[in-house]
Amino acid sequence: MATLTQAAGTLPKPDGDFYQVVECLNDAERDTLKQVRAFMEAAVAPVITKYWAEDSFPFEVLPGLRDLKIGGLGYSGYGCRGGSTLLTGFVMMEMARVDASFATFFGVHNGLAIGSIYLGGSEEQRKKWIPPMARLEKIGAFGLTEPLVGSGTGGGLTTTAKREGDIWVLNGQKKWIGNSTWCDLTVIWARDLADNQVKGFIIENKTTPGFKVEKIQNKIALRIVQNGLITLDNCHVSEENRLQADTSFGDTAKVLRMTRAGVAWMSTGCGMGAYEHALAYAQTREQFGKPIAKFQLVQDLLAKMLGNITASQCMVLRLSQMQDEGKLKDYHASLAKAFCTVRLRETVAWAREVLGGNGILLDYQVARFFADSEALYSYEGTREMNTLIVGKAITGFSAFV
Ligand SMILES: Cc1cc2nc3c(=O)[nH]c(=O)nc-3n(C[C@H](O)[C@H](O)[C@H](O)COP(=O)(O)OP(=O)(O)OC[C@H]3O[C@@H](n4cnc5c(N)ncnc54)[C@H](O)[C@@H]3O)c2cc1C
Repeated sequence: MATLTQAAGTLPKPDGDFYQVVECLNDAERDTLKQVRAFMEAAVAPVITKYWAEDSFPFEVLPGLRDLKIGGLGYSGYGCRGGSTLLTGFVMMEMARVDASFATFFGVHNGLAIGSIYLGGSEEQRKKWIPPMARLEKIGAFGLTEPLVGSGTGGGLTTTAKREGDIWVLNGQKKWIGNSTWCDLTVIWARDLADNQVKGFIIENKTTPGFKVEKIQNKIALRIVQNGLITLDNCHVSEENRLQADTSFGDTAKVLRMTRAGVAWMSTGCGMGAYEHALAYAQTREQFGKPIAKFQLVQDLLAKMLGNITASQCMVLRLSQMQDEGKLKDYHASLAKAFCTVRLRETVAWAREVLGGNGILLDYQVARFFADSEALYSYEGTREMNTLIVGKAITGFSAFV
């Protein structure tokens, strides 16, 4: 089975960080990143193909993840790890370099779920919910998309919330909700029937009446992430669990703006993983009596992959610097999400090509990156939606409809 360390003898070790972007982190941050890499390579990499094939989540690695103490990365207070957006991005890239599903699981919990409560919760709600989430004792999900409403969630959410005294009654369905089949809580976004505005609700999955989750079967990407179809059938949620600072979809969009940059980082990492595996393979696989890495056409593919990865790294690096400087706008994150995922699709296809027939076998790793990139391409805003956000910003005209 091919691994990242397979390159033989004195040949250069495959390394997707050609411009040494990691040097933009300080020493303490680099130590954190090294710990994440060690964990991903020692605990996650050896078991991930088995879980991907089984379409199940590797619960066995969660204690090791908890020991890293990176829960709440990027947030301060409430027991969170803290740290810059830049470090958070690097961590997402590092996780995805080994497995995009694992990075997605962490991104949904740390970015979307904690982020929703951090940005939209009252002080009391933050104090109650975030510390156990930062310790990864309670895992979260984020329920926005619906079976019939994906790209159009901004104006089109059909899930309703009706207030009856101190109780809200929620009705509707949510599709694709990552972690929701097994996690502890889900932030559900629903339209308040009284004022027609979207509001967020924290729902405890295992104990809330009227809340049902079915696992989405037969996915060909990110099979380790357990995505659920949630049905809210007169689901009762107390006013105490409504995100108190959120008043409209604009507040939901704030969470997405923050996490969309993370998907661009993940896409970059996913490309690095595919490239490093493909290069290791090319250095050792022989045809016509020599390693295929000696062939000019194979070197062309490898150099183009590295160009894509390096361009994406430089882009997300600046994106996170802007986020840390408080300058990030929706359209900055959208451009990076669209650009990095398009480059990723190209990169994983070239990596697959380098492996020939073995490129479609899970045993050689690249097939997993190839398949997973399809989900990264579509979730958290498709290429088209992100392009329209950029188009509106640069032309001054909205072309959404
Ligand atoms: C693996 C995975 C995990 C996910 N996890 C979550 C999660 O945890 N929580 C959550 O809430 N959601 C999640 N999603 C949902 C995801 O965000 C949506 O799939 C995505 O927003 C696209 O919506 P859709 O699939 O309904 O596609 P649609 O909106 O139906 O779009 C179909 C196609 O039409 C195009 N299109 C739509 N409108 C326009 C337009 N105006 N102009 C041009 N083209 C347009 C789209 O770009 C796309 O190519 C996940 C999805 C996947 C695949």
